Amino acid sequence: MTPRTERPPLGQTFQRLVPFARPHARGLAAAIAAYVAVGGTEVLIPELLKTALNDGFAQQGAFSLWAVPAVLIGLFAIRGIFGFLGQYLLHWTIGRTVLDLRQALMDALLRAQATYYVKLPGGSAVTQVVSDPQQAIQLLGQASITLLRDGLPALAMLGYLFFMNWKLTLMTLVTLPVMAVVLKQVNQRVRRVGSAAYDAQITLSSVVDDAARAWKLIRSFDAVPFERARFADAATQVRRQTLKQVAANALSQPLSQLIAAVGLSAIVSMALYQGRVEGSTPGDFAAFCTALLLLMSRARHLAEVAQPITNGLIVAQGCTALLDVPAERDPGTGTLPECRGDLQIQDLRLQYEGSAAPALDGLSLHIPAGHTVALVGPSGAGKSSLIHALQGFAPPSGGRILLDGYDTQSLTLNEVRRRFAVVSQDIVLFDDSVMSNVAYAQNPNPARVEAALRDAALWDFVQSLPEGLHTRIGANGSTLSGGQRQRLAIARALYRDAPIWIFDEATSALDTESERAVQEALTRHQGQKTVILIAHRLSTVRHADCIFVMQAGRVVESGTHSELLALGGFYAHWVTLAET
Ligand code: ADP
Repeated sequence: MTPRTERPPLGQTFQRLVPFARPHARGLAAAIAAYVAVGGTEVLIPELLKTALNDGFAQQGAFSLWAVPAVLIGLFAIRGIFGFLGQYLLHWTIGRTVLDLRQALMDALLRAQATYYVKLPGGSAVTQVVSDPQQAIQLLGQASITLLRDGLPALAMLGYLFFMNWKLTLMTLVTLPVMAVVLKQVNQRVRRVGSAAYDAQITLSSVVDDAARAWKLIRSFDAVPFERARFADAATQVRRQTLKQVAANALSQPLSQLIAAVGLSAIVSMALYQGRVEGSTPGDFAAFCTALLLLMSRARHLAEVAQPITNGLIVAQGCTALLDVPAERDPGTGTLPECRGDLQIQDLRLQYEGSAAPALDGLSLHIPAGHTVALVGPSGAGKSSLIHALQGFAPPSGGRILLDGYDTQSLTLNEVRRRFAVVSQDIVLFDDSVMSNVAYAQNPNPARVEAALRDAALWDFVQSLPEGLHTRIGANGSTLSGGQRQRLAIARALYRDAPIWIFDEATSALDTESERAVQEALTRHQGQKTVILIAHRLSTVRHADCIFVMQAGRVVESGTHSELLALGGFYAHWVTLAET
């Protein structure tokens, strides 16, 4: 997995997140109101202290004794209630925002253009959709809690201090810009090392992901020492970067505290001077100190808030990168009321981004509805590219594909794709029951599911499973053999009510008996479905109505098995090779 290198500024990332929180602004406003109430009560603490010290110790106290506990307990009860409400409401807002963000990310993933998947490092989609939003919003949310919980009382306290003694308070403000400059520098370093630590962590996950996914390949290549070394490098990098991050974080706190201490000592000296010259009372002094200490403790928390915000925004960049992936283009608007499955391909050209030679180079062929055709040719001839182009996964750079006479470019992608049922070389199955895999994304009809499984020569096996059709098959069908996975994918294609079936090396992992059973099933549907077979086995292609031999992105020969044999060209040569 390659670490994400190019990143937008953090402010921009923040702006991208705002729209996800906006619909829940009422929750946020209520949380702020609750924290404002908490802040208001805090101001009363030094005021109470002042009253108690100035009036409470006199022989004839200015207020009765029971008032002290009543006011104190009442005050903290109110603080507790509003503090709880503030935290609860803020987390409510965070939860809703994460949900919306995740949904938007999943939508972006589901509609991303094909090139995104070609370049997608293993596991990163899961990180971007599942962990990143939670982590980012959690970090930012915690920081917001601190900002509200400490920022609002700090502001209230500052107002109170100005009211009490503006000269002293002004002095405290002198220290703030100094603090800001130092903190900015520290924060920049925290951000840099935070980025590096995150990248290192992603690289490490990717190495482990590779090792788990490719475990067979690794052992067959005797690459265990190589992978071990790769892991050791990545793990060391994580250790180094994490330590740097810890050091940078740890440094930020003492530095800000030191600045605070310098400011505090200047302020206390000034207060003592005022006491001697202007005759202020010890009660005033105690109240000022209490208010100042309360303000300092709040300010200390506020100084720590920059780090989670920065870290949260760094993580959020992973999500916003996914939000920015362009969606698949779907300019067509037409629909087909009915589709027979007649395919006409005219002078089709396709060249992948960054590749020197075209994958399809003026390919033309006609497949009448209900015909079974085979595509044969060497690897790299463009067979799979043709299938991709038919389904609109690879937009052609020239030529046309006509479906029942309609140019597929004028139809919506959905309209085109639902006409094809494809079994491709890489089998994709879902971690769900056999039934749900066969009737994927549809309401299952058990009788039709059974028929599809019978046609795919898998019914006997499914019946032997402990829960039959309802047995779960594990991630990507991990509990099945290669042949069983392939037959399940075939059953899924057969179940789909599409006029065109495409089998791209779909029976390569089947034994002769299963392959014959699948062939027979296809023969039963002959005439009703247009079938395109891509195969390297002679037994699969020889009965096709027409065989197209492809080379370098074009059709070089076409005809029935016997016609092509008589021609004595590529096909005849291929058959000779296949039979020897
Ligand atoms: P076949 O299915 O006949 O083996 P393909 O259609 O897979 O052939 O490939 C045709 C050509 O296009 C090959 O040269 C291959 O390297 C290239 N190709 C296939 N997929 C891509 C891709 N995603 N990006 C770049 N080139 C590709």
